Amino acid sequence: MLPVVALVGRPNVGKSTLFNVLTRSRDALVADMPGVTRDRHYGICRTNEERPFVVVDTGGLSGIDDGLDGLTARQVRLAIEEAQVLVFVVDARDGLLPQDRTILDELRRSGKPIIAAVNKTDGLDEETALAEFAVFGIAATLPLSAAHNRGTEDLVDMLLPLL
Ligand code: GDP
Ligand code: MG
Repeated sequence: MLPVVALVGRPNVGKSTLFNVLTRSRDALVADMPGVTRDRHYGICRTNEERPFVVVDTGGLSGIDDGLDGLTARQVRLAIEEAQVLVFVVDARDGLLPQDRTILDELRRSGKPIIAAVNKTDGLDEETALAEFAVFGIAATLPLSAAHNRGTEDLVDMLLPLL
């Protein structure tokens, strides 16, 4: 069994974009399991050939802001259950929103390692973008631009020792 990394965060922060970057490769195995995982997508990250891992995109709700009720809550719980490491994705352009804190509280209850990925830092000052999220107190916080494939290798480097 490959280790599992879950991408978690509110809608529209860039989880699916990050998923696509991490799992894009010539021989990427599409590991979707219809029926069981209706709202989640599974892929394999092979950035480090010797240490592939499964990536779970907890998306499927893009644009729907439902707090932590209903489907989002269920998805977050399932992701927490099956993952070894949680990548908490936030949006540098929107800044810190109440829903981010709600999701992080839920993630923290799991006791599993959390990496905070501050996405959409393209065109922004990275230090300023990171500073806003420093209140989370997550040591492993890094800037990212999933859309421009920047910071994704650093993310993988941060993930591998935790798997
Ligand atoms: P999800 O709902 O969390 O899965 O978010 P998506 O991956 O669907 O992305 C939501 C929107 O943000 C889309 O319009 C993306 O093109 C955009 N987006 C994602 N990553 C980035 C990024 O790094 N920079 C910018 N500027 N936009 C991004
Ligand atoms: Mg999505």
